Amino acid sequence: MNKYNSALAGKDVQYQLHPYTDAILHQEVGPLIIERGEGVYVFDDQGKRYIEAMSGLWSVALGFSNQRLIEAAERQLRTLPFYHLFSHKSHSSSIELSEKLIELAPVPMSKVFLTNSGSEANDTVVKLIWYRNNAIGKPEKKKFISRRNAYHGITVASASLTGLPPNQRGFDVPLPGFYHVSCPHHYRYAQDGETEEQFADRLADELESVILSEGPETIAAFYGEPLMGAGGVIVPPRTYWEKVQAVCRKYDILIVADEVICGFGRTGNMFGCETFGITPDVMVVSKQLSSSYQPIAAVLVNDTVFEGIADQSHAFGTLGHGFTGTGHPVASAVALENLKIIEEERLVEYAAEMGDLMQAGLARFKSHPLVGEVRGHGLIAAVELVANRSTKAPLDVAGKLGKFLAGRAQEHGMITRAMGDSIAFCPPLISTQEEIQLVLDTFGRALDDTARWSGLV
Ligand code: PMP
Repeated sequence: MNKYNSALAGKDVQYQLHPYTDAILHQEVGPLIIERGEGVYVFDDQGKRYIEAMSGLWSVALGFSNQRLIEAAERQLRTLPFYHLFSHKSHSSSIELSEKLIELAPVPMSKVFLTNSGSEANDTVVKLIWYRNNAIGKPEKKKFISRRNAYHGITVASASLTGLPPNQRGFDVPLPGFYHVSCPHHYRYAQDGETEEQFADRLADELESVILSEGPETIAAFYGEPLMGAGGVIVPPRTYWEKVQAVCRKYDILIVADEVICGFGRTGNMFGCETFGITPDVMVVSKQLSSSYQPIAAVLVNDTVFEGIADQSHAFGTLGHGFTGTGHPVASAVALENLKIIEEERLVEYAAEMGDLMQAGLARFKSHPLVGEVRGHGLIAAVELVANRSTKAPLDVAGKLGKFLAGRAQEHGMITRAMGDSIAFCPPLISTQEEIQLVLDTFGRALDDTARWSGLV
């Protein structure tokens, strides 16, 4: 045994480099080892139960023990555990999954390109748009505009699109040609007295001035999550997407919707694009696509984008892009089954109802002295903690309140995530009314603990 609570924990510290973890602190505190899952709960290696209020990483839509998904994986493993899509090869699960995605897409889409992760999907989008713009004789149209606090992944191009300092600090990104405009968070960034509509006007004007100063002929695409997830669950202000899209259309700039978190029912509709009235040229989906039972993501492109790619690949004799795991049969089979379940069980409508319940429950915390803002849409939300409600100031350093509260929640048997001082809620789509209530009650207990500890209340 060692100073951690199991031999396995000691080996974890000895052998693993953890993502999103302070590597030195990890040697002190060791890991929380999750051993199994059941419904919306996970259990650690000491037998303690946690309600997973984050669906793992915003992704386990169907909970942690869906038998149909397990059986779909097993069936596919027994029939064809691997094959690829290179050089005109194909297989049924990737074909059927692509057909299903095109059928579900909220706007007409033409083709699907499958990848292993959301980051790879976003790198794929950047490369495909560069490739396409070369093909259509616009080799100078290569720049990307995204937003501060956006999250699009951590590979080189996707980390360049991401607008969060921890993903860029020390990593020599963003690459040249990637620009970030303001984060559409009214509570934090609106000027005194500015309405949501006025704030949206100002952000659309800012976008237009960046486009004009760089030269519209150099800007390839505008990139956005319909509702920003990892950057703090930021709900765009009213009329934001309508105004931003109008600017993009005016200058022939493609719109890419990163639906990695929003997709498949999270915001109350099948896609965030429907919730916020976005008509994208390209869409990226992942996470709830397979409930994360298998790693998989997809890029959907419309006809306009596809045509340029097709011509270029013909001229070169191949599309020189693809992963060993592109369209992996097991991942595709699980994703297809997952989408069938979401449709058959009408989980989008169900999650919208549970979402209303969760939003109403969280809204009751609005008057708490530590709560600055409660925001969200459907079954995704955040509560932002502040030490002073009128100045919106944090408790000495930003993030301290959030970290403490998430720790207390874990102690009380709930896993959530603190993004700075914002506590995120993203429970599985299958959560029952009682389970949503348990999330709310556990949050309430952790908030009381935090209030006492802070000495502010
Ligand atoms: N886009 C968004 C909106 C995401 O939330 C994420 C992951 N949190 C990604 C892209 C990257 O996906 P992955 O972690 O699978 O690379």
